[in-house]
Amino acid sequence: MYYYLSTLSTKDCRFLSNLICLISIVMRDIQANEIEWYLRDHFFRQFNQGIQYFKKDSLGGEMISLYLRYRNYNLQDMNDMITIVVENLICRQVIKKTENNSLELTSRFSRLQCSKCFYISYLNSNEPRNCLRCSSSELHDFPSKR
Ligand SMILES: [Zn+2]
Repeated sequence: MYYYLSTLSTKDCRFLSNLICLISIVMRDIQANEIEWYLRDHFFRQFNQGIQYFKKDSLGGEMISLYLRYRNYNLQDMNDMITIVVENLICRQVIKKTENNSLELTSRFSRLQCSKCFYISYLNSNEPRNCLRCSSSELHDFPSKR
């Protein structure tokens, strides 16, 4: 390994470090997207139980204890990801910051399935009714009402 690295030119090294940087950005994006999905799922369930206010600092712990997927996640990593996701959700007007530094859901969520790619999206009524994966507008309630 050492030998291999020592044969790399400065240009190769720069290329490699840029590549690693790019990969880590993409990985973080994928992770953030996935956490956003679970966070929307969490908000959807809480809202249906009448809970509309959340503390950002406790969301990470809630996610780790609620979802098997994140059982072994490090709390600090989770909180860092939650910070990114929450900023994005504030931009999209799904949540807003209140005066006492809580987060408030701006309206209820619909759980919708895309007719094209079958992805489940949790959409707030302030958001465009488009699939969060493929942007299709052909969405129906999930599970479908009969
Ligand atoms: Zn779709």
